[in-house]
Amino acid sequence: MTTIMDGRKVAGHLSEEIKDALSQSKKHGIRPKVAFVRVGDMPDAISYENAAFRRFEKLGIDAEQYHFPEDVSAKAFLTKFREINSDHAINGILLLQPVPEHISMKRVVELMNPIKDIDGMTQVNLGKVLTGEDDRLEPCTPAAVMEMLNFYNIDLKGKNVTLVGASAVVGKPLALSLMNKDATVTICNLYTDDLVSRCADADVIISAAGAVNLIDEPHVKAGAIIVDVGINFNADGKMVGDVNYEAVKDKAAFITPVPGGVGAITTTVLAYHLMMATDFQKEPVLFLEN
Ligand code: NAD
Repeated sequence: MTTIMDGRKVAGHLSEEIKDALSQSKKHGIRPKVAFVRVGDMPDAISYENAAFRRFEKLGIDAEQYHFPEDVSAKAFLTKFREINSDHAINGILLLQPVPEHISMKRVVELMNPIKDIDGMTQVNLGKVLTGEDDRLEPCTPAAVMEMLNFYNIDLKGKNVTLVGASAVVGKPLALSLMNKDATVTICNLYTDDLVSRCADADVIISAAGAVNLIDEPHVKAGAIIVDVGINFNADGKMVGDVNYEAVKDKAAFITPVPGGVGAITTTVLAYHLMMATDFQKEPVLFLEN
């Protein structure tokens, strides 16, 4: 019997923890608040922002939206960004990507206060992922994968995990989190040869590549655990992952669907990170002002 790992269930469970933390905060007169910062009108950025906004609204968390025109000058944008960053009423910042080329993403991320960095973009937080610190604010998608595996009591110790995709926002930080759980991790990218054999021995396959039907029946050993992070649209315009779900689902022991899998958890993780960030800011902290 294959277990379908249900991202909505995981998000629901996490939401209860968030609501508890939120009511505790409010009892102490603290209203956590997130700032969404977007430059331009890229459809992917808008849809992620809208999804996150709805999630925060549903949880009863205050959100402020800062939208800048595509042609805003770098100077004007960075001036406003500094203000948001140092506003003590704002506990977390989500910077929507991409930003236009004339604004240096590197510079913006360098300016961001790591304790407001709820999507784990800064080098401080990525460094904490490396060493597995408890107070890390890690990138939300890898964190959502780890929440999913944890919710379904999947012990990664000693497991052979093949991770397909090695981007800085998903694959690489996820590889570190898996290693921190004592998994043996094989990391594949577009240039990896013989993907089939690298997956076929794996106890766990995690695909974050962005390629339709990349993981098919020959890639999967019987009883494998499959986590599909990919979000793609097939020829019929239907949202699908990287895994040929129908072809592999009976062979796997656990599998995530798309939609309704990892993608259903990420904005809730973002809200959870806001609660963590708010908690860090209760104490007088050293704010890194740039
Ligand atoms: P990216 O394009 O930055 O990186 C893709 C990675 O996959 C690269 O390392 C690339 O070498 C590798 N890759 C691409 N095609 C491959 C192939 N045929 N064989 C092996 N490796 C291959 O993408 P990203 O931002 O890391 O996102 C990856 C996927 O995850 C996308 O489909 C994206 O939409 C999805 N995503 C989902 C969520 C979510 O919440 N579920 C969040 C972020 C991204």
